Amino acid sequence: MSVTLPLVATTSNRGIAFPETPPSGAADQSSNAHALLRAHLLTTIRDRAPVSRSELSRVIGLPRSTTTALVAELLRQGVITEAPGRGGGAGSGSGRPPTLLSLRRPDGLVAGFDFGHRHLRVAVASDEGHILAEESIQLDVDRRAAAALDWAHDLLSAVLDRAGVSLADVRSAAAGIPAPLNSRTGRVGSPTILASWADLDPVEELRHRTGLNVTLGNDAAFGALGEMTYGAARDLTDFIYVKASHGIGAALVLNGRLYRGSHGMAGEIGHTQIDPSGAWCRCGNRGCLEATVSIDVVRRQLEPLGLDPLNSDDMEHPVATKVLSQSGRTVGVVIASLCNTLNPEAVILGGDLASAGDHFTAGVRDSVRHLAQPGPALDTAVIASNLQNRAELLGAVACAVATPYAAPPA
Ligand SMILES: [Zn+2]
Repeated sequence: MSVTLPLVATTSNRGIAFPETPPSGAADQSSNAHALLRAHLLTTIRDRAPVSRSELSRVIGLPRSTTTALVAELLRQGVITEAPGRGGGAGSGSGRPPTLLSLRRPDGLVAGFDFGHRHLRVAVASDEGHILAEESIQLDVDRRAAAALDWAHDLLSAVLDRAGVSLADVRSAAAGIPAPLNSRTGRVGSPTILASWADLDPVEELRHRTGLNVTLGNDAAFGALGEMTYGAARDLTDFIYVKASHGIGAALVLNGRLYRGSHGMAGEIGHTQIDPSGAWCRCGNRGCLEATVSIDVVRRQLEPLGLDPLNSDDMEHPVATKVLSQSGRTVGVVIASLCNTLNPEAVILGGDLASAGDHFTAGVRDSVRHLAQPGPALDTAVIASNLQNRAELLGAVACAVATPYAAPPA
């Protein structure tokens, strides 16, 4: 499946970013115009690959000769590759099928990092996305950014050792973090959520510690990519992925593409206010969805009974099933509104709450059926992820696999 990368910031894709400063002279204008065309061509090839030269010309609006010259330059530099297309389609004529262009992907392993509010998971995988080794640790990622980033290095070393490979074998990496990310700055987009990360450049911090150029993304966005690549969304083009754990975040995949919003921060459903006089939330408001429902809230509710929400046997206790169902119904109120707005094919639920048992998913489904308008309510499947809480990690791996060759400077 062709996917659009949930890119936020990466040291490798900065090479194809548009220049931020205006040109100062005629020569600069000429080289900047070339850089812009080249960047536009590369991103179009990335998004539409495999793509023919004629389609590129049409999409970009350039004369065929200009496109051909630019493509020849990129082929010479090894940035892109071409392969014969399949011919014989209706209206394709009797000539040879066109060759199709893609970004070149070098050989090598990839690494994925999944930072949650209370955990870090790291994996190393083959270039086809097969996991070779995986490690995880529980820690307070929200308040201990430096420690979490240090652990990223330590767990990476551990998985490399376990897989019997070295850092030099890793050609790309991606990391998801549990906060809105500003796609323009590459930093955490909120001063209150993940506050200890607010002044950090996570890409630089990870490069400094691991030596890897890391593509950064929101955790729910990587969860959606994990579902599209390995899980329940492989055949879906319109769906909502919800990560319900210590926080609640969503990723919106519309028409096969992740919808990121103007600053890359779409999907923050956890901070929808559902009770104006409710508990204070980490974002600074009151009565947010994730201040009302989270794995921590469920743990506190079940503590008097000695029940652990991460223990599947405990979650069959009648009180636990009631708490999980009610939690699901509350989350479902917000999701029902999203279903009315977006009319998705499916809502896929991941994270600790969805993993805690079917009762949470059943509660969400119940609210969607009752509160969404009849069309969206009946059309939308509400299902739990089958990736056992690993959708975000697998999405980071999928992103790293899909990260193309780093383009040399124009
Ligand atoms: Zn909030």
